[in-house]
Amino acid sequence: MKNWATLEADIDCWMNKHYTPGRGNAKINKIVVHHNASRLTIQGIWNVWQTRQASAHYQVQNDGVIGQLVHDYDTAWHAGSANPTSIGIEHANLTFEPGWTISDACLDNGAHLVAALCLYYGLGRPTWGVNVFGHKSFASTACPGAIAGSQTGGYMHHAQQWYDKMLAEQGSTVAATTPAIPSSVLSVGSNTTSRPTADIQRLVGADPDGVYGVDTTAKVVAWQAAHGLTPDGIWGPMSDAAGFPPAHAVKSGNLEVDGIVGPETVKAYQRRRGLLADGIMGPATVASIQALVGASADGVFDGQNQDLIAASWPALTSYNRGGEGSPGVAALQSRLGTEPDGLLGPDTARAFQAALNEGRI
Ligand SMILES: [Zn+2]
Repeated sequence: MKNWATLEADIDCWMNKHYTPGRGNAKINKIVVHHNASRLTIQGIWNVWQTRQASAHYQVQNDGVIGQLVHDYDTAWHAGSANPTSIGIEHANLTFEPGWTISDACLDNGAHLVAALCLYYGLGRPTWGVNVFGHKSFASTACPGAIAGSQTGGYMHHAQQWYDKMLAEQGSTVAATTPAIPSSVLSVGSNTTSRPTADIQRLVGADPDGVYGVDTTAKVVAWQAAHGLTPDGIWGPMSDAAGFPPAHAVKSGNLEVDGIVGPETVKAYQRRRGLLADGIMGPATVASIQALVGASADGVFDGQNQDLIAASWPALTSYNRGGEGSPGVAALQSRLGTEPDGLLGPDTARAFQAALNEGRI
């Protein structure tokens, strides 16, 4: 790292897709570690992620050099339901099957990065299973190989030593659990709706002078991030619908988040959107969800695993069967901050229910 205290990586190699801008209103509370199941460079893993719907925030090379690929304030796609609340670190392997070890340099710098992140985000002393997890805690996978096996002890010992050293040198700093969006990424946004700009400014806490400038843009970005919207600073139809819901819309807030989208969940969604609240997720309701997440609104989710749907989305009547995951579902998952694998299962159902409770969809 160029600077451990400020989390400035040796190399920045930013992803241009396959992550979710912002984190909604989620706070970072854990680090999730991965191995490449390969020995990749920073550029190498960037290349892989161009072709797969996956990403992580950092990559530690075999020589210990660290690259950053996704900003901490954005949601990388690396650990399913843990994505919104975690930072993901990838590690290149030294050996392959069956050992899946990492090099000493990779271990030491990966552990140092864990320590620096725990300090920066106020997560406390790095502890395995408390604030540092292997990918396999959140998915059925062999990842992170020996880091969750023969090398766990060494990795966490180094992480704690680095944490104690950094804490002694820097002192306890104010935790930044919500990463700031640097002003350098802001350009002046705009209001593309017919809503008076002063109304928007009052809603987001900006001076209601009717001028859509840098301050209003920054306040809109923060408001969008807090409401699970793409924080682009542009006030368009989606922001407007979220900010000024129609009078008949209700905030349910009390759905049980049980991972089963049955009639009650669907009724809550339908009431929110002003649809007929019959509790059946038919073509009109599906089309409404597709439009909401920017997917083609044909009213049908394509190519789904029938058993998975029957178990976790029993109210859904309108879908095609078989084949690969659906782009429309992946768009919904991206919006919800879950892994966009295109399959409607219990993780997506839980995220859908939580988003309804929090008024984010
Ligand atoms: Zn992994």
